[in-house]
Amino acid sequence: MSTTPNLAAGVRTLLSAEQIAARVRELGAEITRAYEGRKLVLVCVLKGSFVFAADLARAIDLPLRVEFLGVRSYGSGTESSGVVQITHDLSKPIEGEDLLIVEDIVDTGLTIAHLLELLSTRHPRDIRVCSLLHKPSRERKKVPIHYLGFTIDDEFVVGYGLDWAETYRNLPFLGIVEGTTAATR
Ligand code: 5GP
Repeated sequence: MSTTPNLAAGVRTLLSAEQIAARVRELGAEITRAYEGRKLVLVCVLKGSFVFAADLARAIDLPLRVEFLGVRSYGSGTESSGVVQITHDLSKPIEGEDLLIVEDIVDTGLTIAHLLELLSTRHPRDIRVCSLLHKPSRERKKVPIHYLGFTIDDEFVVGYGLDWAETYRNLPFLGIVEGTTAATR
């Protein structure tokens, strides 16, 4: 028998895998209705949204293509500054396309604001945002979130793609590491 503590030890569940799956199905149905007759481009913002985007893509009953956008956000300490470096760009032009940006979480809003500005210079037909989570209490920049999974309090969440120092992305649920506070960031 292994004595290694499992990954979930010390993580308090905020949203279970079942709760997330049910909400992702609803979002997929909503997006399917909204884009009926259109072909969309899902832009998965790496790394945090890779799990959400994989599930969301399968909940959308429309032809779509998936693009990956790698971003690194610079900030003083742990606070996002909104200065975003693209570490992996889209593989094709997006002119005239219907873009759906898939984010894990909108916190200050600075990252999404920057991405909206950047991508709009490439002349897509339309850009919308789908975020799994939103922390309105931390908002510094008002950004549109057309499709939202859950609104949460100001707590640092991990799992379902979201990390803490690159760990916990593979937890199947969303939780809070015991002993961490928003200030731990
Ligand atoms: P924003 O520019 O909106 O402040 O930052 C968004 C990014 O910060 C997210 O895409 C995510 O990478 C990171 N982030 C913000 N809040 C959390 C959180 O509670 N947990 C984790 N793991 N990352 C977060």
